[in-house]
Amino acid sequence: MSSSSIMDRLAILADAAKYDASCASSGTARRNSLGGKGIGSTEGMGICHAYAPDGRCISLLKILLTNHCIFDCHYCVNRKSSNTRRARFTPQEVADLTISFYRRNYIEGLFLSSGIVKSSNHTMEQMVECARILREEHEFRGYIHLKTIPEADAELVHRAGLFADRVSINVELPTDRGLARLAPDKDARQIEGAMNRTSTDIAAARDSRRRFRHAPRFAPAGQSTQMIVGADRASDADIVHRASGLYTQFGLRRVYYSAFSPIPDASAVLPLKRPPLVREHRLYQSDWLIRFYGFRAAEVAEATDDKGNLPLDIDPKLAWALKFRETFPLDVNRAPRELLYRVPGLGVTAVDRIVAARRHRTLRLEDVARLTVSLAKVRPFICTADWRPTRLTDRADLRSLLAPRAEQLELFAA
Ligand code: SF4
Repeated sequence: MSSSSIMDRLAILADAAKYDASCASSGTARRNSLGGKGIGSTEGMGICHAYAPDGRCISLLKILLTNHCIFDCHYCVNRKSSNTRRARFTPQEVADLTISFYRRNYIEGLFLSSGIVKSSNHTMEQMVECARILREEHEFRGYIHLKTIPEADAELVHRAGLFADRVSINVELPTDRGLARLAPDKDARQIEGAMNRTSTDIAAARDSRRRFRHAPRFAPAGQSTQMIVGADRASDADIVHRASGLYTQFGLRRVYYSAFSPIPDASAVLPLKRPPLVREHRLYQSDWLIRFYGFRAAEVAEATDDKGNLPLDIDPKLAWALKFRETFPLDVNRAPRELLYRVPGLGVTAVDRIVAARRHRTLRLEDVARLTVSLAKVRPFICTADWRPTRLTDRADLRSLLAPRAEQLELFAA
């Protein structure tokens, strides 16, 4: 096959992979330098980033093995009834591309997903073969993330975990009802069964490696999943409960939320408009509250409106604090750490520093000010040696005082 056709297929299959959020950075403005003005682009596809356990950012070649698919998921541009340009790589071609990009220092690893061609087993075999070529023939030590196919045989999914650093299985939609309606070829129980086996395999491999130094690794970077937001009627409360259940049941490393984006040639059962991107952002913040701030899913759900959705103008932690004002103000010199995590504007690091500092001295408002980007947000919810909010905490207009202006989007504020 000529190199130009490789380039054509690369363009198609890298573009087709951009809808997968599992390792993407999203939510930013669209910019490019195609007109010859400026440098850089936020719109490109083909390379995404993942984070290693030590915090290193790793660039990954992000492509599909093929965008042919025998399934017909309504939300997917690659579904069999879609009128999109199709392309396909062989496992050897993907391995060769990975190695040549790696040698040029463009990437440090591979994120490989695929449409389902011929059968789930055939596709999974091809993906595993690609990872095998990289690991065994090229002795590739870089990062590999394989998207696995829950309908494939358990043995094949297991083999994927032996070669990959991370495996992921998409739950796709937050509710079984939504999955049955929008992805009729998929089965929620099959997806959960595959996640469960992967979780057991990961735990077993960790246990073996503790006992035997040379025991095989199995997906050492764990498993993750993705949920599409806004394609069905699931509320934020539904999504938060589902995500929390997945973390607890299957020990997932991450749940990624992907705001449904209208696709070319869209199915009539889909909404015409994408949900606001800030909704995806609020879900990431609520995910953060559950994983790092000790909130239960039910508590995050208490911050939602009567339709079960999180407010878009303020972050979920502030929404919760405004709803449960009787919890505040908290004395930063005495309150337990887990309660301080609930103060809007105080992150985990700030709370750690407060707890460490108050062993040696009594904290004043200016000490807290040094630990937060927004003292205005913190003040109504805390007491210090020289500050009490008195009636500020209960003011009827507190929400409007604290809501950021409409154009501001607070990245990872918690
Ligand atoms: S299985 Fe569904 S989501 Fe995956 S590529 Fe095929 S149509 Fe798209």
